[in-house]
Amino acid sequence: MEVRVAKFGGSSLADADSFRQVRAIVKKDPACRYVVPSAPGKRFAGDHKVTDLLYICYHNREEGISFDDVFAMISERYVQIVKELNLTIDIKSYLDEVYTNIKQGESVDYIASRGEYLNGLILAEYLEFTFLDPAEFIVFDYKGVFDSEETHRRIKNTVARIANAVIPGFYGARPNGEIKTFPRGGSDITGAIIARGVQASLYENWTDVSGFLMADPRIVENPKRIEIITYRELRELAYNGANVLHEESIFPVREAGIPIRIRNTKAPDDPGTLIVRDVPKGERVGQITGIAGRKDMTIISVEKALLNCELGFARRLLSILERNEISFEHMPSGIDAISLVITDCQLENKLDKVLNEIRLELDPDTVEVFHDIALISTVGQGMAFTAGMAAKLFVALAEEKINIRMIDQGSSEINIIVGVQTKDFERAIKAIYNAYVN
Ligand code: ASP
Repeated sequence: MEVRVAKFGGSSLADADSFRQVRAIVKKDPACRYVVPSAPGKRFAGDHKVTDLLYICYHNREEGISFDDVFAMISERYVQIVKELNLTIDIKSYLDEVYTNIKQGESVDYIASRGEYLNGLILAEYLEFTFLDPAEFIVFDYKGVFDSEETHRRIKNTVARIANAVIPGFYGARPNGEIKTFPRGGSDITGAIIARGVQASLYENWTDVSGFLMADPRIVENPKRIEIITYRELRELAYNGANVLHEESIFPVREAGIPIRIRNTKAPDDPGTLIVRDVPKGERVGQITGIAGRKDMTIISVEKALLNCELGFARRLLSILERNEISFEHMPSGIDAISLVITDCQLENKLDKVLNEIRLELDPDTVEVFHDIALISTVGQGMAFTAGMAAKLFVALAEEKINIRMIDQGSSEINIIVGVQTKDFERAIKAIYNAYVN
């Protein structure tokens, strides 16, 4: 029988009403056997996420300040949910235990993880599913490094044998039982790990948006939803600044080839965005998948006649960066020139020193620096091997009189990256979007 794992984000479990929506979604789909909840998120603008409040409890304790008021806010959230849903769970005694443990010096990871733990207990009763504590099977080593293989083995041997379960997101444990959390937003990772472990056919990630958009809606008005995207395209968009799932959160399902669907709890009939390993060749030809961009870049452009004949030039250039502990993002090159695209935060106060070293050690004809550069990446597997795709982009920018400072196209042809002045960033994204989509 088909098995699905559904992860619900904090905004999908922020209050009793959203719990009701979640129950309706889960009960409608018998294949949805494993549910991974986040901690309660914000109910309205200006509200607090429970996880943030838990971190405040920890910091107050460390500073010797009372955390009672903050803990009372947390308790109230859970007590209200339990009451409104008419559940029998004795949530107060669980809360008391957490409070005592915080007082007695429990670790920051333990404290932060309790948001998911308590939400999981409540949701398990409400869905009539078994509650499983991930401290039992999501394994970290003593250094805090996630042990993927041991975790996988345990999930296969335990979780997969249980018909229906709620598994809190965000944490696991070290071999001695000490709680260890993933980075913030880590319930996505838990969902992916469970999906891989139970060999799910689909990992549903329920959130408060109906999937990914082709461009940032603050720049492009009403951008279209991305219906289907490959893991590689997703990585390109995420790296280039799109606010999508973090790579870490998809690696377990990516490895296992399990598709992810991003869905909206508030609009459960919307199809959302499907993330897959591959799309059939020939599909989406001539289309792009999305556009993303990053600001705050600098280009250092080094020119020297006959550079192509000079042995070791690029190596010496890169070793100057290495010595100064600077990593670069891109390195477009021509026969007599190499450019380095570097984020401003990498360069910080090192630019003059680096330029001096380049002049001294490489004896270039010119070294130019372009500040205030933004990179825009237009991504799409459908662009590969398709004549006219790049031309469309360049014509669109030329018509807008936007000067391109750099062009880079990965050898896989799934994206074209252009560098423009920061002041042209928004206009360039709009122009590219209109050229391909409208
Ligand atoms: N509750 C945790 C956080 O706010 C984890 C998650 O929501 O995924 O980061």
